[in-house]
Amino acid sequence: MASTARAKPAAARRRAPRAGRPAAGESRVWHPNTQMREWGAFDEVVRGEGMSLVCADGTRLLDGVASMWCNVWGHSRRELAQAMARQAATLAHSPLFNLTHGPAERLARELVAIAPGMDRAFYSDNGSTAMEAAVKMAIQHWQNLGERSRPSIVALEGGYHGDTFGAMSVGYVPGFFSRFRRMLFGVSRVPAPDAFHRGIGAGDDASQCADAAERRLARGDVAALVMESGAQMAGGVRIYPRGYQRELARACRRHGALLVLDEVATGLGRLGSIAEYTAQRSRPDIVAFGKMLTGGYATMGATLATRAVYASFLGEHHESRHLFHGHTYTGNPVAAAVALENLRLYRRHGLMGRVRRTSRVLGGHAAEMARIPGVADVRHRGMAMGIELARGAPPAGQSVNRVVYEEGRGRGVYLRTLGNIVMVVPPLAMPAPQVSRLCAAVAETVASVARRLG
Ligand SMILES: *Cc1c(COP(=O)(O)O)cnc(C)c1O
Repeated sequence: MASTARAKPAAARRRAPRAGRPAAGESRVWHPNTQMREWGAFDEVVRGEGMSLVCADGTRLLDGVASMWCNVWGHSRRELAQAMARQAATLAHSPLFNLTHGPAERLARELVAIAPGMDRAFYSDNGSTAMEAAVKMAIQHWQNLGERSRPSIVALEGGYHGDTFGAMSVGYVPGFFSRFRRMLFGVSRVPAPDAFHRGIGAGDDASQCADAAERRLARGDVAALVMESGAQMAGGVRIYPRGYQRELARACRRHGALLVLDEVATGLGRLGSIAEYTAQRSRPDIVAFGKMLTGGYATMGATLATRAVYASFLGEHHESRHLFHGHTYTGNPVAAAVALENLRLYRRHGLMGRVRRTSRVLGGHAAEMARIPGVADVRHRGMAMGIELARGAPPAGQSVNRVVYEEGRGRGVYLRTLGNIVMVVPPLAMPAPQVSRLCAAVAETVASVARRLG
């Protein structure tokens, strides 16, 4: 290996961290958004049981973040595993290029049924690709109509839409993406509601933000307004004040811009409604789902569009109006089959009713979290809560996330933070007693971490 490496100047050689020879059996996994040197070794999960993850050393961790906000029914759910096994044994993959298959057809029908106003479903692999497809649809829609006076995309400050380049461009959380800023395409940004950090009332915050968006849309050059639906999750669990999203939807209509909603994190019941935009009384032209679509069992994204958007893509082949986007695994039958089974379980178990009841339990714990010394703010809606810690210096060389993970692990819960926000995002169907147990462990964790941060 050394012989193929290009010779570096001596100074650079001295500065470069030593790679060392990996020991036999050393991990070759490069973890996401992780300082590998800080972590060194990771707990190895060997199986999931109900709402818990079980590690190789026997440690059981109650899943406090629904395995990155995806899990609905807990782990190793028989019906979901069987749906995948059945589909894999019948047809594991065949493309939607020149062909179709039953699971993709049935799931698309199901999706447009749960998403009022939507007419077609386009499949991709995850939330980022669902948003890439959404933005490309919006841009190409205006081109297909021959409309050249709408070159701009407007998005909210602090929005998050995924980690690929298009998604990083429309969403921009500086702490995540500043390294790539120079390479991102231009987007106009308007302020998003953030009453806590601005120190103003939610009503004033909402109307100021809605006014700013309206002024931008009124210039008439906007192809689409892109925003998360209901709340900005990764940008800091900023829950929209009542009426805000509806105002933006109305402003889009008034000024002829498409409304593109990202429900990857907040839809499918996370905030309490299957389609969060119905709760927000705002009809999108394009909406993206991901994360919980398959119950957390397979990777899949879906981008839904209205009849009007879809119709602009119809024409003769030589007109090149068709959507110029597609992924190898688009509409994968195993993912589609488990998504169908997941949505069937939603109906069969009245999941939205359950979520509304359990979310009151979670919300009840928010008040006690807010009283913990060192907690600056607690924000909650549906089955999502963010506990923002007052900023303090983490113990030498450690990230807040690492400290929270360790403290949570010691109390039998799996946690991951967003910066200094401790996230509580349980599997949607977590029963109330387990939600309370989770919250008790989180409260102890937060209190202990806040003391260590000083
Ligand atoms: C997670 C997330 C995405 C990206 O989804 P991936 O599956 O990680 O690509 C996009 N938008 C929102 C709102 C998300 O929370």
